[in-house]
Amino acid sequence: MSLTPPIAAGARPVETADLSDLAGLAEKIFADVAALSPDVLGVSRPAYSTVETETLDYLETFAREFGLRTWRDTGENLVIAAPGDTSPEAPCGYFGSHVDSVPQGGNFDGLAGVVAALLTLIALVREGAPMRVPLRVLALRGEESAWFGNAYMGSQALFGRLGEKALSTRRRDGRGTLADAMRETGIAMERIEAGEPLVDTEKIRFFLELHIEQGPVLVERQWPVAAVTGIRGNVRHREVQCIGQAGHSGAVPRWLRRDAVFATSELIMRMDDHWATIQQHGGDLVLTAGIFQTDPARHAMSRIPGECTFSFEARSQDSGTLRAFEELLKSECRIIERERRVKFVFDEAVRSDPAELDPAMVDAILKAASAEGLPAEAIPSGAGHDAAIFAQAGVPTGMIFVRNRNGSHNPDEHMEIEDLVAAVGVMRRVARDLTQ
Ligand SMILES: [Zn+2]
Repeated sequence: MSLTPPIAAGARPVETADLSDLAGLAEKIFADVAALSPDVLGVSRPAYSTVETETLDYLETFAREFGLRTWRDTGENLVIAAPGDTSPEAPCGYFGSHVDSVPQGGNFDGLAGVVAALLTLIALVREGAPMRVPLRVLALRGEESAWFGNAYMGSQALFGRLGEKALSTRRRDGRGTLADAMRETGIAMERIEAGEPLVDTEKIRFFLELHIEQGPVLVERQWPVAAVTGIRGNVRHREVQCIGQAGHSGAVPRWLRRDAVFATSELIMRMDDHWATIQQHGGDLVLTAGIFQTDPARHAMSRIPGECTFSFEARSQDSGTLRAFEELLKSECRIIERERRVKFVFDEAVRSDPAELDPAMVDAILKAASAEGLPAEAIPSGAGHDAAIFAQAGVPTGMIFVRNRNGSHNPDEHMEIEDLVAAVGVMRRVARDLTQ
């Protein structure tokens, strides 16, 4: 396999470049990589593992067969460049995503973004698009938190943000720490351990990540792709206790009850009302209480629950909304505590900041989608992605979602190759703008 025509400086984009094989190439890569990483169900590509390295090796060989240049960066991520892009130290922009997966996960989470980036680069080189800022593909390691309890390890390492605590976390099967696993993949750990960035942020002109949507919106709306406006941050309480008083379900009248389940339910319904109001005013918020329980050792059908524990998670693109919502939560707790004579006890909140994506990039994606005859729509991302780390480091960052059925982090993820190829069409147009 080789690329025709070779890239020529100053050449004009050729719309007629033959791209009819892109779907076939994508199918081949997905099938070959799935075969490298099988599990009882789905695929497993652990972060900083030999399977992950073999996946990068495979992609590297594939890219080289197309005449593209490849190398590993100091974080042992794979970089793929156009044939004429011979100065790795020169400023550049990246399209990319991660290659690791959750245990027994789907084949598209992460990998779809790397494949789309690679196909975009192949298309641009074929059409002879001049690239004043070289576009490179970045295939990142270590994004999934399932392995070491930390997410975005590959991109955090690039920006010197992997702290000592993260590096000393053990793998889920107890087999060594993150630092051990990184060292085993060949990374020289001194700079990472010293918290030094591995890249010159100034030289990264843009980062664009395509990712499968992990929620149901694109399927429901029948949109093949969407621009992502921002990545939600969150505030989380793993365990909140509501303490009331246990009693006989038949003997205690309503006015003397201190029912922890009723109090907690009221709290959640009040927060749901606030959520609806915030949304009506155009605010972005999602709210979940995924754990909600009474003590199984003591609870009974005929016992007024004296205690209830629950988790509380709010996510928003806007840190102001998150802060305001936390205030509302506390004030509603005080009211319910008075009215129902209970007590809410909160654990320490864990927070992560929202990441704002570059408005110009969102715009460019919407325009490109229109030009490709696709719906030009934008939605926030509820899940975190490497793109958030690039955005937080100050790199102009964009994201494209591609339609995907059956959710994510499971073997049933389902993306149509046709949708991926449509997204590559969008990415080609965006890339032409960005590389000028
Ligand atoms: Zn992912």
